Amino acid sequence: MPNTSERTKFFTESVIRRMTRISNEYGAVNLSQGFPDFEPPLELKEELQKTAINGPHQYAITWGAPNFLEALAKKQSRFMGVNIEAQKNIVVTCGSTEAMMAALMSVVNMGDKVIVFSPFYENYGADTVLTGAVPIYVHLTPPAFNFDKKALREAFCQRPKAIIICNPGNPTGKVFTKDELLYIASLAEEFDTWVITDEVYEHIVYKPHKHTYFASLPNMFERTISCSSLSKTYSITGWRLGYIIASEEVINAARKVHDFLTVGAAAPLQEAAVKALEFDDNYYDKLLSHYTRKKELFLNLLDDAKLKYIEPEGAYYVMADISEFGVKNDVEFAEWLARKVGVAAVPGSTFFKENIQNYIRFHFAKKEETLLEAGKRLLKLREFASKLYV
Ligand code: GLN
Repeated sequence: MPNTSERTKFFTESVIRRMTRISNEYGAVNLSQGFPDFEPPLELKEELQKTAINGPHQYAITWGAPNFLEALAKKQSRFMGVNIEAQKNIVVTCGSTEAMMAALMSVVNMGDKVIVFSPFYENYGADTVLTGAVPIYVHLTPPAFNFDKKALREAFCQRPKAIIICNPGNPTGKVFTKDELLYIASLAEEFDTWVITDEVYEHIVYKPHKHTYFASLPNMFERTISCSSLSKTYSITGWRLGYIIASEEVINAARKVHDFLTVGAAAPLQEAAVKALEFDDNYYDKLLSHYTRKKELFLNLLDDAKLKYIEPEGAYYVMADISEFGVKNDVEFAEWLARKVGVAAVPGSTFFKENIQNYIRFHFAKKEETLLEAGKRLLKLREFASKLYV
């Protein structure tokens, strides 16, 4: 038979999703792939029930159902502090996974360079391969995951077509400060570079940190391609509702890419999700307190298990430092942890370009009882640690 394509040889399957399969195999508490085990808001489920009867059940307009676009434009204009026009500045996608891919395909040509911070959300590796872009990695140094200004400038001197910024960061939990973003903005302007943001954790930013939308910075709206989704904000990761917000010129290109990639996001789910987009500020305040409690609980459990970690500023992940176990291969360690201790995490190396093996990523978007069970199991880590990999 002929060979499969060359491009598919340059990336591996998702390690995050592989860890979910491993977790299921060993009956571990799955703190690897980041998704909630609690329910979305009841009003949203009731709306979905109504939509099941009333429809729509056929294709929505490819770039988004008009009522969904209107509600999203209103909500994002409010939070981002910019004027987003429903019919000009948005394309609705199948999750931010498609949004990121469509954004890159819309602005990057084969062989163009794209700056990616490392550690990075693993999709960006595959995204650059599939779009023919050449990544320039800029290191974020733990524990604060700050970048070196000189290193970033040198990366811009290589004339990249775009930079990807995941803010709040996955897997780091880093929330970029306004000053850091302004510095990136000044480089993007000087070197005429697109800025592609992944802001799916925009509403999960722990006090006193604050989320700054890149598109809201002075003169940055035209230059920014903001990608996000409803998955994390409304606990509906399976609905696959994401979007790109950008200038009309970029959106016209992105609509074409999206049209031929997927035709459109699910029509009944867009219809039901209008309800969520209309929630008032109270919803977002509650969401933040809910995750703040989970973060505090889980970090306390890590303390009890005497695991070191880097406290997240946003999102719902925490990087735990496993240096003390003398780990040479964090993938083996994560498999061992799932098998022996019964808690699944993601080996940190999947996020790093550099050869860094001393982190594993846990997520804490789980019910209190699930986190407590994970904590109980992690207490046994010390007992097992002497027999590591046995
Ligand atoms: N964003 C989540 C994570 O990092 C889930 C990713 C996915 O599987 N789409 O774990």
